[in-house]
Amino acid sequence: MDPQPISDWSKPIRYLRGVGEQRAAQLARLDIHTVRDLLLMLPRRYEDRRLLRPLRQLVGGEWSAVQVEVVNTRWAQPRYGKGYLEATVRDSSRMALCRWFNARYLESMLPAGARIMLFGRVSVRKGQLIFDHPEVEVAREGEDESLHVGRIVPVYPLTENLGQRTLRRVVAAALETFVPHLSETLPEDTRARWKLMGIQQALHLAHYPEAEPQAVRARERLVFEEFLCMQLILAARKHQADHASNGRALQPGGALRERFFLSLPFVLTNAQREALAEIQADMARTRPMHRLLQGDVGSGKTVVAATAAVDAIECGKQVAVMAPTEILAQQHARTFRAFLKPLDVRVDVLTSGLSNEERIATRAALADGRIQLIVGTHALIQEHVTFHDLGLIIIDEQHKFGVEQRGQLYEKGFHPHILVMTATPIPRTLAMTWYGDLDVSTIRELPAGRQPIVTRVISEKLLPDAYDFIRKQVGKGRQAYLVYPLVSESEQLDLKAATAMMETLRAGPLASLQLGLVHGQMRGEERDRIMEKFRRGDIHVLIATSVIEVGVDVPNATVMLVENAEHFGLAQLHQLRGRIGRGAHKSFCVLQGHPRSRDAWKRLKIMEETNDGFRIAEEDFRIRGMGNLLGREQSGGAVLRVGDPLRDTVLLEQARQEAFRLIEVDPRLRAPEHALLREEARALYRASSAFVKVG
Ligand code: ADP
Ligand code: MG
Repeated sequence: MDPQPISDWSKPIRYLRGVGEQRAAQLARLDIHTVRDLLLMLPRRYEDRRLLRPLRQLVGGEWSAVQVEVVNTRWAQPRYGKGYLEATVRDSSRMALCRWFNARYLESMLPAGARIMLFGRVSVRKGQLIFDHPEVEVAREGEDESLHVGRIVPVYPLTENLGQRTLRRVVAAALETFVPHLSETLPEDTRARWKLMGIQQALHLAHYPEAEPQAVRARERLVFEEFLCMQLILAARKHQADHASNGRALQPGGALRERFFLSLPFVLTNAQREALAEIQADMARTRPMHRLLQGDVGSGKTVVAATAAVDAIECGKQVAVMAPTEILAQQHARTFRAFLKPLDVRVDVLTSGLSNEERIATRAALADGRIQLIVGTHALIQEHVTFHDLGLIIIDEQHKFGVEQRGQLYEKGFHPHILVMTATPIPRTLAMTWYGDLDVSTIRELPAGRQPIVTRVISEKLLPDAYDFIRKQVGKGRQAYLVYPLVSESEQLDLKAATAMMETLRAGPLASLQLGLVHGQMRGEERDRIMEKFRRGDIHVLIATSVIEVGVDVPNATVMLVENAEHFGLAQLHQLRGRIGRGAHKSFCVLQGHPRSRDAWKRLKIMEETNDGFRIAEEDFRIRGMGNLLGREQSGGAVLRVGDPLRDTVLLEQARQEAFRLIEVDPRLRAPEHALLREEARALYRASSAFVKVG
């Protein structure tokens, strides 16, 4: 018996005919839990099986789908090399041979006489038709073939133990029993404006199109809806922020800022000035600022953020600087201390490294306002820390804090101005998804006099040459960095590796040079001492473990050698590379790697091609894909099933435009025609909707 008509497609998959406990468990492993999840598992391709050609008509080199019968199979094990399963198949026109390497499990599925569908590339060798590693589908006795033959057929993404045929059956059941009762999510005029098909039609055609262009249009409609839901959340949050007036306007006289600028050894670039002006305009309003400050490595974001901090402090407010890790917090503390020292501003750090007494003292000084700027991890705003008068939060995002954590600030009942800094540039599509609720300032210009850096990727074999190069550069009076990545997941071991490496280098290739080692487990003073020696030139080569991002500015350093560079993300490499090329001399970055895959190799080669952080970010994200990028954690609960912000950029723009329009006319989506959309958005982004009040 069919289930009752149900229009709510968030029902568990078990409601479907033919889905029992076991099947539901299999589907769950594919992250399919509800009917909605299932219907949005779109085919990875389609196969036109309206007219299946007989074997006799196949041409070598072509991709073909055929329906055949198994004659026999045998396991072939050559003396050297991989074993393979060989099957002879035939239709009424001729015979063909199929081969699958390492696929013994297939043998039992292909008894003589079985009717199967094959899809793959055919070749012709010695008059024989051969399919190498074709996809295979086995028809069951008495099975209704109409879903699988005689039409354009969906082929789904990989499916564990679930065959294509099983998936087709389950999806067809959902299309049959659920979809006819499904209500339209998109408002009438939204559909008209963007020429989108209805939800029911879209789902049918996405799985069983009558022609491929239909499938494309159907997918577009589904992607649009998904992006729209995501953008509605962001638009709603932005709307809320834009209309808030619960912040405090900060309009300093400017005397402290004046002193700050006089203390700097440089003047701000025009690009920095523009970004600063946008920030200052924000802070001068009672609407709390929500701004993203981005720019390439070395573009000077920190000094811009520090100026905003100086303004807030001049207004008698406190400033909190949040970093994603303890080490980065320490590093920011050093930077901000150095900036603010001439102004007699009190800068403190609150991290887990403090003793109990220190912690108590720091909290007290925060509560009564003696501390003007505090640096810490996000524990700063999560623990029971009270501020005397918090006016500005600077978040060093590092792609680690999600939308969610930023949202927690609202919940805390603070209404400070918020400035988010990214460590590196981010692609535009990512900015639209991740930071879509923020205003953006971009510093597009590097301070004058920066030298382009020459980058080379080398294999391990060439390391001696790299050491040789370092020796020559030092001979010319220059200095170098040598960076080791976190390979072992354990700082202890990495440290050992780096320490051992230093001994090896000291005894061998770099014997004539002064070496120094810095690492994350060093006490601050010790590290500062070594850095200072490096700065003075007493150390020629600074060896660093990756945990320490070399937070130094030594214009005389012109070489950076990163060993096992494939362990770093591109953005991180770009960030590291930003430590050289700061002086008058030409700089060189050498990345030694032994990447295991072609993708990994391609990734490293991008570093050779460009110094443009925006491009590097784009490429990095393109290669690594959105999956890694918009994991549940980092996107604040937004898991995209059908859309790919990197590929579907036009749809993303359109959906964003539509979302902002809808929120403008109906900020909380209260209108009856928006009710379903609101439900969808909320369901999709449950994690985020905890703090975003959409209705
Ligand atoms: P980012 O954080 O954007 O990567 P930083 O803020 O660390 O860049 O700045 C990189 C270096 O450039 C720092 O040493 C900083 O003091 C210096 N710097 C910043 N602005 C300027 C400027 N306008 N002219 C010269 N040097 C600058
Ligand atoms: Mg920086």
